[in-house]
Amino acid sequence: MIKYKLLCKNCSKDFDSWFASSVEYEKLKKVKFLNCPLCNSVEIEKSLMSPSVLSNKIENNNDNPIKISKIKNKVKEYKKFIEKNFDYVGSNFTYEARSIHYNKKKTKKGIYGKASLEEVKELKEEGIETEVIPWVNDNDN
Ligand SMILES: [Zn+2]
Repeated sequence: MIKYKLLCKNCSKDFDSWFASSVEYEKLKKVKFLNCPLCNSVEIEKSLMSPSVLSNKIENNNDNPIKISKIKNKVKEYKKFIEKNFDYVGSNFTYEARSIHYNKKKTKKGIYGKASLEEVKELKEEGIETEVIPWVNDNDN
């Protein structure tokens, strides 16, 4: 079973859902069987940069707990840096990124937020440099 954090593109509600496999997720999405618990929209995307994505990966690889805590500390340092130097825009990330790129919107800081892999791919195709970064919660040990 795989747990995905999903995001409704219509109302920005995020929610967790379990799937037998990533293939099952794609299948359900294709036949529009995935819908938002809030507004029933079928415009559902996998939400990335969620803490659960990162910690799941780490838990699967538990042969070296010391190394893992070091990685987590690195990620936390990185996160602190991002929080200090970038503005959080949440699920408006792709919208804000496009505003900056196309409307030459002035920002003192960079931005960070949530985007799906598909959205990041689209941004890159439009020439907007976007990086996917790992993330943890401060209280996630
Ligand atoms: Zn919705």
